[in-house]
Amino acid sequence: MKKRKLFIAGNWKMNKTSSEAEKILVELKSKLSPYIGKLNIAVCPAFTALETAVRVLHGSNIKLGSQDVSAKESGAYTGEVSAKMLLDTGVTYAIVGHSERRQYHNETDALVNEKTKMALKSGLLPIVCIGETLHERENGKTYDIITTQFRGSLNGLTSEEMIKTTIAYEPVWAIGTGKTASKEQAQEVHALIRKLLTDAYGSETAEKVIIQYGGSVKPENSAELMAQQDIDGALVGGASLDSEVFTNLIANAIN
Ligand code: PEP
Repeated sequence: MKKRKLFIAGNWKMNKTSSEAEKILVELKSKLSPYIGKLNIAVCPAFTALETAVRVLHGSNIKLGSQDVSAKESGAYTGEVSAKMLLDTGVTYAIVGHSERRQYHNETDALVNEKTKMALKSGLLPIVCIGETLHERENGKTYDIITTQFRGSLNGLTSEEMIKTTIAYEPVWAIGTGKTASKEQAQEVHALIRKLLTDAYGSETAEKVIIQYGGSVKPENSAELMAQQDIDGALVGGASLDSEVFTNLIANAIN
């Protein structure tokens, strides 16, 4: 029996206009209603679809996340969206440090840390992504990379803040590639992250932190991944873009 309630979030990335978002969210609201309450569910649309999503999801327990958040509070930062703006729109979570942002927008652990702290200070719940590349894994660097990213991205968080933060372990080689980490490979890294949490905060805090797995999670593998001791949910890309597929993934995950 899991000590922690599963948390599954869909990351839509740069997909779906507002009208496309409205269509899938109407479907999800009804299809997911039997499961809400058994686990925490969120969807993370593009910024432009957030207001529509708030309207459509009203009265459901499906929460909303953004795919990024500015490290700055307000001011002359063209193109940025602040935590305060997101909260005001009705957003609960913010994905921070996704590997695509680290890769294509040069986000460093230091910036991810600033964004994480800004989210927490403002009342948003961060989902902080860490994960190694294939090259790093093949060179036996997985533990070092995870340890460095963990320490850099989460530096200075209090215990209380750590409990509000979700960590998403996303091996870069498994994102959008169809290659999933085996349940053993994923559990091994999740256990390492739990140990890093225990070393930094003690076991009482460490046992409360949700650690999601992300990387080609689909209905066919969600059950075996979620059954692992230290895997407490999933961050789902491709398989969250279709209401039937996302619902099946969730249904399998909780059974
Ligand atoms: C992601 O974007 O966080 C992700 C895990 O994508 P996918 O499920 O498509 O691999």
